[in-house]
Amino acid sequence: MTGKELIQIEDRYGAHNYHPLDIVIDRGEGVWVYDVEGKKYMDFLSAYSALNQGHCHPRLVARMKEQCEKLTLTSRAFRNDQLPLFCRELCELSGFDRVLPMNSGAEAVETAVKAARKWAYHIKGVKKNKAEIIVFTNNFHGRTTTIVGFSSEEQYKEGFGPFTPGFVIVPYGDIKALKRVFNKNTAAVMIEPIQGEGGILIPPEGYLKAVETLCRGYNALLVVDEIQSGLGRSGKLFAYEYENVNPDMVIIGKALSGGFYPVSAVLARDEVLNVFKPGDHGSTFGGNPLACAIARESLKILVDEELPLKSFELGKYFKDKLDTIDKKYIKEIRGKGLFIGVELEPEAGGARRFCEALANEGLLCKETHENVIRFAPPLVIKKEELDWAFERVKKVLETL
Ligand SMILES: *Cc1c(COP(=O)(O)O)cnc(C)c1O
Repeated sequence: MTGKELIQIEDRYGAHNYHPLDIVIDRGEGVWVYDVEGKKYMDFLSAYSALNQGHCHPRLVARMKEQCEKLTLTSRAFRNDQLPLFCRELCELSGFDRVLPMNSGAEAVETAVKAARKWAYHIKGVKKNKAEIIVFTNNFHGRTTTIVGFSSEEQYKEGFGPFTPGFVIVPYGDIKALKRVFNKNTAAVMIEPIQGEGGILIPPEGYLKAVETLCRGYNALLVVDEIQSGLGRSGKLFAYEYENVNPDMVIIGKALSGGFYPVSAVLARDEVLNVFKPGDHGSTFGGNPLACAIARESLKILVDEELPLKSFELGKYFKDKLDTIDKKYIKEIRGKGLFIGVELEPEAGGARRFCEALANEGLLCKETHENVIRFAPPLVIKKEELDWAFERVKKVLETL
């Protein structure tokens, strides 16, 4: 079938909750993908950083096949041989005490919300149903009804209310505004160290450290959502490492799957995750042996191929090159590691038309909000491949 026919079928039979670029991909390898007509593109989005290890990493293909033929699902009614090793390896890598595995990112965020609330009632001593969680403008934590209820993006909420109470939104990057909303009922602050969906927004230096200090002063948990920024994307294993903070809970997902099979997790200290007793929380597929086997291999690849360091070094290399581009359409270029946003001037006519032009040149990027193009290639990318991408970016940004 042609790409055009497949697009018509999708438009006819699928819900229209996305506005994708009209490229129908049927094969991927490393940083490259191929459409059904055989045209080759470089993936410069990495499925919102779920593909840090690149498409169809051979080690993951092999591990998934092997595990599929052996055992895929037990449910948590019984134990399996992969979950214990997954939890231990993740704790050893991250320095946390305990892991609670889930499937999607949003589910792990919901898990963190439940853990923070229960911690507030049982450990901190907040009165019943009074717990508050502080979140930020331009946050993105997923699409469940509770999570969109504390989004500052009107479209994410419109038509989906009523929403869960107990969340307070303050401006991202403004420490004074944050200080004003803390009180005895504050259970937690939940923050993205870099706001990916918000448009690669990076708060002022020292901000996350100041957030941590406030949390300590008010005995509130610091919950860091690293679903997109984590696992090497920002040039560190976790983006919070840039400020040497010690979060109480960290949420990961996306690249934990290596792009193969949804896996997410909440990492925390004992005091926090120990609030869950049998029956408090769960998921049929959470912690299944197939997911755990894939996540273990995904993490080993990150370590063996030094992907956080590669992201750090190549990110700097690429950003320095971007800084040489003629600035007629560019308002700001910001990023850490290979997690870079190019914000266009309002006069540029929107990021979408640039992404379409880049796709015509063979480079797949996606706009975020009106005016930001996000550059987030798989971290297995080579320097020559980045140079190839740069030529296309330069051409489009200078001549469109
Ligand atoms: C993608 C994302 C989520 C939601 O993950 P899903 O797997 O899509 O539910 C949550 N937080 C952040 C920061 C994300 O980037």
